Amino acid sequence: MLIVKKFGGSSVANRERIFNVARRCIEDYKAGHDVVVVLSAMGDTTDDLIDMARSINEHPPKREMDMLLSVGEQMSVAYMGMAMDALGVPAVSLNAFQVQMHTNSSYGAAKLKRIDTERIRNELEMHKIVIVTGFQGVNKFDDVTTLGRGGSDTTAVALAACLHADSCEIYTDVDGVYTADPRIVPNARKLSEISYSEMLEMATLGAKVLHNRSVEMANKYGVRLVVRSSLNTNEGTVVKEAARMEKMIVSGVASDKDVARISVMGVENEPGIAFKVFNSLAKKKINVDIILQSVGRDGTKDIAFTVARGDVEAAIDVIREDMKIFTAKGYEVEEGVAKVSVIGAGMTSHPGVAAKMFEALSGGGINIKMISTSEIRITVVVDEADADRAVRRIHDAFDLGD
Ligand code: ASP
Ligand code: MG
Repeated sequence: MLIVKKFGGSSVANRERIFNVARRCIEDYKAGHDVVVVLSAMGDTTDDLIDMARSINEHPPKREMDMLLSVGEQMSVAYMGMAMDALGVPAVSLNAFQVQMHTNSSYGAAKLKRIDTERIRNELEMHKIVIVTGFQGVNKFDDVTTLGRGGSDTTAVALAACLHADSCEIYTDVDGVYTADPRIVPNARKLSEISYSEMLEMATLGAKVLHNRSVEMANKYGVRLVVRSSLNTNEGTVVKEAARMEKMIVSGVASDKDVARISVMGVENEPGIAFKVFNSLAKKKINVDIILQSVGRDGTKDIAFTVARGDVEAAIDVIREDMKIFTAKGYEVEEGVAKVSVIGAGMTSHPGVAAKMFEALSGGGINIKMISTSEIRITVVVDEADADRAVRRIHDAFDLGD
C-alpha cells in the first residue's frame, strides 16, 4: 500500500511530538507500506514569522512573504528526517522545488497545477520514507509560492491523488470531525463518516479541521480522507462519497465569528446597481458571502452583504469611493455578527429543517439578521454574542449530541 500521512503544526510542535510522528510513520513502513509524509510548520511558527515580517514592513512584498513562510515547513521536514535517521530508518526530506510541485504565481494563495512524482517514486523505490513540505509550491519563475493558510492539507490530498495513494490520512490535534465544535458544545459527537459536500460546507463555515480546498480536491479526484488525532489511536472520521450508512438528516452545526455585515443604503431601484456594487468589490478581490436585498420602497432599496472582518476596511474604501456610482445614500457596518449554520445532505429530502432551526433560535430569543441556504445548508447571521448559544440550541434541537 502507498499511504500519505499529513501532520499538522501541533502534531510536530516539539521534539517529543516529532518523534511521536516519526514512530507512527515507521510503524507503517515496517509493515511493508510505502509512506509519504506531509508536514506543516511546527506549532505557531507561521504566525511568528508573519509577526516578525510585519514588524519589519507593514505590507511586506508577497513574494518575500512566501519566501519566508515556506521556511517553517522546511524546518519540519528536516527535523523529521533527522528523527527517522536517529530511529534507524532511511528517510529523505524534500521541499516543493525538489519534488517540483508547480503552482501558478498567486503568492500567498497559489493554486497547484502539476506535481512531478518521479523523485518521490525513486526515493520510495529505494525504500525510504519520503517527507514532503506542505503548503509550498514553485512557480514558472522558479520562485517559492505558498498555498494559503492551512494549505498543507491540500498538498497532502494533491500528492495522494497524483501518487494514486491507497489512503490519505490527515492527522491533527482533534479526534476527527464533530457534530459541532466540542469547545462550544460539550456533548458534540464525533462523526464516523461525512460526505465531501458536507465536509466542504463545514470547512468553509468555520469547522477548521480541514482546508476547504483540500476537500474540493479530494472530491474531484475521489481521494478518501481519514481525519484523526496524532495523539491517540482512536478511529477518526472518514470523508468520502455520499453513500452513507448512518441515516442522519443533519450532520453538524458550524459557526464563524469572522464576519461583518455591510449595508449599502438607499440605492436606486433599477437594473445594474447590484452589478456595480459587487463588481467594484470583486475588482479589489473582496470576497462577499451572504447577500440580501431589501424590497424596494420609495424607489430605493438596501443591499446588505457579509465579508470577513479583515476585509471590512477595504470594502468601506470601495463603497466610499463609488458611492455616487452605486446611487447610495449611505452605508452601515456591523462587526459584531456571526454566522451559524446547519449542514446535512439529508435536508434535500426532508422538509422542516429550517423551521426546526428557526424554532430553536426563537425559543432562545435569538434574532436572525440574515438567512441564506444551499441544498445542504442553512445559514443565519446573528449577533456574535448569541452565536455559541445558538449553536448549542440548534445542536440540541436536532438531537445531535451523545
Ligand atoms: N503552516 C501553514 C499555516 O500555518 C500551512 C499549514 O499549516 O497547513 O497556515
Ligand atoms: Mg490545518
